[in-house]
Amino acid sequence: THFGYETVTESEKQQRVAGVFSSVAESYDKMNDFMSLGVHRLWKDHFVSSLNPGATTPLGQPQRILDVAGGTGDIAFRMLQHSNVHNANPNIHITISDINPDMLAVGKQRSLSLPASYQSSISFLEANAELLPFQINDNSLDLYTVSFGIRNFSNIPAALKEAHRVLKPGGVFACLEFSKVDKYPMLNAIYKRWSFSAIPLIGQLVAADRDSYQYLVESIERFPSQEAFRDMIVDAGFAVSGDGFEDLTGGIAAIHKGIKP
Ligand code: SAM
Repeated sequence: THFGYETVTESEKQQRVAGVFSSVAESYDKMNDFMSLGVHRLWKDHFVSSLNPGATTPLGQPQRILDVAGGTGDIAFRMLQHSNVHNANPNIHITISDINPDMLAVGKQRSLSLPASYQSSISFLEANAELLPFQINDNSLDLYTVSFGIRNFSNIPAALKEAHRVLKPGGVFACLEFSKVDKYPMLNAIYKRWSFSAIPLIGQLVAADRDSYQYLVESIERFPSQEAFRDMIVDAGFAVSGDGFEDLTGGIAAIHKGIKP
């Protein structure tokens, strides 16, 4: 049942990723809670408040955001809430893009329970992050977010290049993703045991889909370290400040940010 990624081509990988997310779409949100013991909600809250969407200078200026691999809307809905409530700025627009129509369909359905004014601030776009469609112009966005998506991309440098292309100068690239716990061997041991035995089992019991959750665990394992991923962001042309990343929960997840010069 293990996917031997080293030997598959990019398009094969893309098809497998499509299969995984089509089969988990319905159970995705529930599974996130089980797998992370609810902690993914805290990471997402922290990610969004650190971006402070809607805080424009001067206040109330329009802000254009693209949430790539936005799936079921978790990040976009939080950004809308933050902009409207925290910054009293309804003047933002968020495009939720995802390569998978099943994940987008769940996001659309969920968006129907948002306030009407929020609903008019979002649109949905089926798109591959590695080759964004013409609707997203060069130098057109203030903020590009990708949360727990980028490790699934077949060609991460291509996606970073696209992010750089569509952002305005001064625009921000922000990524929330699983990362490495190398600095804390004890935590790492517990975490590895949890992810390699418990997560596939929970996937089997809760979603009757062991393979997809096995894939998710393996994709985390294969993703580069904080430093290596930061270097990829720099290679794509972004400027970073300090280390360029922030560890969450000892590095189980990390936030990377870059600014387009
Ligand atoms: N951003 C959401 C969150 O934080 O909960 C959803 C993350 S979900 C784990 C990963 C998403 O990445 C899936 O919806 C999948 O369809 C999408 N994805 C995978 N490869 C993609 C690609 N090449 N372009 C765009 N989206 C992609």
